Amino acid sequence: MGSTKYIVIIGSIMSGLGKGILTSSIAKILQMRGYNVFPLKFDGYLNVDCGTMNPFRHGEVFVLDDGTEVDMDFGTYERFLNISLPGNASITGGKLFQKIIEKERNGDFLGRDVQFVPHLTDEIKERIRKYANETKADIILIEIGGTVGDLENGYFLEAMRQLAREEEVVFIQLTYVPSISAKEQKTKPTQHANRLLLSMGINPEIIITREQEELSEDAKEKIAMYCNVNKEAVFDDPLVDTIYELPLVLEKQGFYLIIAKKLGLDEKKEADWSEWKKRVDKIKTPKHVISVALIGKYTKVKDAYVSILEAFVHAGAEVNAKVNCNLLDAEKINNENVSEILRPYNAIIVPGGFGKRGINGKIIAIKYAREHSTPYLGLCLGMQMMVVEYARNVAKIENANSSEFDDKCINPVIDILPEQQQITKKGATMRLGKYIMNLRKGTRGYDAYNEESVFERHRHRYEMNPEFTAKLLEAGLVISGIHPKNKITEMVEWKETFGIATQAHPELKSRLEKPAPLFIALLKAALKNV
Ligand code: GLN
Repeated sequence: MGSTKYIVIIGSIMSGLGKGILTSSIAKILQMRGYNVFPLKFDGYLNVDCGTMNPFRHGEVFVLDDGTEVDMDFGTYERFLNISLPGNASITGGKLFQKIIEKERNGDFLGRDVQFVPHLTDEIKERIRKYANETKADIILIEIGGTVGDLENGYFLEAMRQLAREEEVVFIQLTYVPSISAKEQKTKPTQHANRLLLSMGINPEIIITREQEELSEDAKEKIAMYCNVNKEAVFDDPLVDTIYELPLVLEKQGFYLIIAKKLGLDEKKEADWSEWKKRVDKIKTPKHVISVALIGKYTKVKDAYVSILEAFVHAGAEVNAKVNCNLLDAEKINNENVSEILRPYNAIIVPGGFGKRGINGKIIAIKYAREHSTPYLGLCLGMQMMVVEYARNVAKIENANSSEFDDKCINPVIDILPEQQQITKKGATMRLGKYIMNLRKGTRGYDAYNEESVFERHRHRYEMNPEFTAKLLEAGLVISGIHPKNKITEMVEWKETFGIATQAHPELKSRLEKPAPLFIALLKAALKNV
């Protein structure tokens, strides 16, 4: 048995119960007491990583420091825990099968038939232990994607059953308690799901419920009685005003004492929530309201921009403001209606994106921001479009464009990165992960970070074309950040009015306890005309 302890979180009844937020909240409760905690997530899909997934279907693709493209839940973990996770925090069905088949082709199984048990389950346990070693975690929280009973996670649950025989493991079942009439909460689905887990040899020692109203004492007792747990080990995961309140809500119910007992932790350890509480209070009772227009493409799915929306929550708490960020469809914006659409907003943001659709609307919105002094923030594609707008309308470079949208473009002010030219495969082939950027003193970028070198995460194939740098500088565009070695332009800005954009995705590193500097800068500029 290793020294790391494990908490396994399993969803039951249905998806969408907020398992990622629950996992993050439990991790925070332990981290606040000084434990070195690391989350790990299993996703059953056969994609090796999330890089090839469409945000329309699956929400945002999150990127870690080492460039691994992962599920949005990793963003939640990092935002709560204020740590940067390694790629090994993510195990997918695709990764596991790829490895097993590669080993089989190498003859590594010495003539044996390759089976789910023990080969696949051993591979899972080995990865988990390797992660425990690498992170030196006191406690690892393993979140299992999907719901108990799904085809995709059955073998992973079997691996967890085995892990519990070899290590110190506590299982937590997250469940849903529906009510038919206002008064009566129904625990039968929970009982059935619990039995399903028991039939797999998994015995949840803690049960956490979602429901419409507060969990009644009666329902609690029933769950305890039928699911073989003490009443004290049944917790309520209610609707909260902000997700960052959930750890506090669980604390109030005495969650730490129960988990400490089950895992053999120090029951007397105290947590200091004062700073966290302050931020939560600021989110709940803001002084100002700022309206931001996000001009995007995936506007029907809020999850596609979740890191940006959360970055606004963090930065908002910092400046005492609630940010109402409206997702506007870039395709619906044209020269005629732009003023009418954007006039009500205090700030404009153009996020990252791929493909041609909506590009013109984005450029028109950026021009509006520049000409009407509406504070502007551009992220990745939002920077590329800021450069195109400036090239066309200020530097008068005719037909300036990105070669992503016009490969025969005569003036490609945004062009494919040299190292990207030969690549044909789609998965994990972009400029991905953490890169350094040097900021020039006296710029808005430098003032926002107050540092000369910063690290942000990236995910792109195109960059500002160095052939046009001189012309753009001459026309007045400011380059505030560059990569020190290959001189890629990482940040540009306007001189006259607040407009700043970066090739990076600073939203991916925004945390409640450490909001992204560029988001704070944008909101401060916006507050001036609220
Ligand atoms: N499509 C652009 C590129 O690949 C921008 C990518 C992004 O916004 N993440 O460079």
